[in-house]
Amino acid sequence: MLNLMQKGSMEERKTYIVANWKMNFTMEESNLFLHKLAQKIAPAKGLEIILAPSIFTLQSLSLQVDYKQFRLAAQNFYYKDFGAYTGEVAIAQLRGIAEYGLVGHSERRHIFGETVEDTGHKTAAAIRSKVTPILCIGETMEERANGETNDVIYDQLVGGLSGVTSSHIRHVLIAYEPVWAISTGGGGTVSAVCSPDDLLDTIKVIRSHIKHLYGAKVSKDIRVLFGGSVNAENIKSYLQVDGVDGALVGGASLNVESFSNIIRKTKEIRQEKK
Ligand code: PEP
Repeated sequence: MLNLMQKGSMEERKTYIVANWKMNFTMEESNLFLHKLAQKIAPAKGLEIILAPSIFTLQSLSLQVDYKQFRLAAQNFYYKDFGAYTGEVAIAQLRGIAEYGLVGHSERRHIFGETVEDTGHKTAAAIRSKVTPILCIGETMEERANGETNDVIYDQLVGGLSGVTSSHIRHVLIAYEPVWAISTGGGGTVSAVCSPDDLLDTIKVIRSHIKHLYGAKVSKDIRVLFGGSVNAENIKSYLQVDGVDGALVGGASLNVESFSNIIRKTKEIRQEKK
């Protein structure tokens, strides 16, 4: 099931739009959302639409989803494959249900105390289970104000990728989500908007760290998404930023209309870029 991120040079570079539903929607609401969205979205070559529902609805959605249209992601998981870990779900148990798994989302780091070491274990566990990890990284407002963005990003990349060899790095997606730009404020900081210029600067930092860790080819090939209050109005400005391969969407993915508009705009920009 592991998706290959690094396609042959003749193949079109994919765009990824991930809907992070967080702790929203009952089973019935999730099913209904999927059906309404499916009616609005035609599959598009080169565009991967990934839904990350609450863990308890994953299996139900997996039985209904048309994989030509959508893929599924786990919002969180544990890195041990089985055992006495009450309340946890192993990524190994989600194999065949979720093709992707979020790792190190800022809410996991800042609310639930997930450490960089945890993210390293989780990324490695996902790869072991043939699930594509989406490693979320990003600095808080305070870290940014202190000029620590580059170091924080470096530490999160080194820690999150600690178990990822150069032959497996092509199976990883990175999502840059500055905590200060996430609608919830993540770490309890004041939210602000990440401008496309700010984004470009940090994307360059991320790719340069990846170059240092895995070399120039990987740094060019690796897929990097952006997340932080993305909506139908601003998605184009972010996807136009050099080196951005898609978006991780929280709040605006909770409404069929706004999420399908994001997808429509993404399709438009892919056409414009051709
Ligand atoms: C997120 O939490 O991953 C996120 C990007 O949320 P929002 O789009 O609401 O800022």
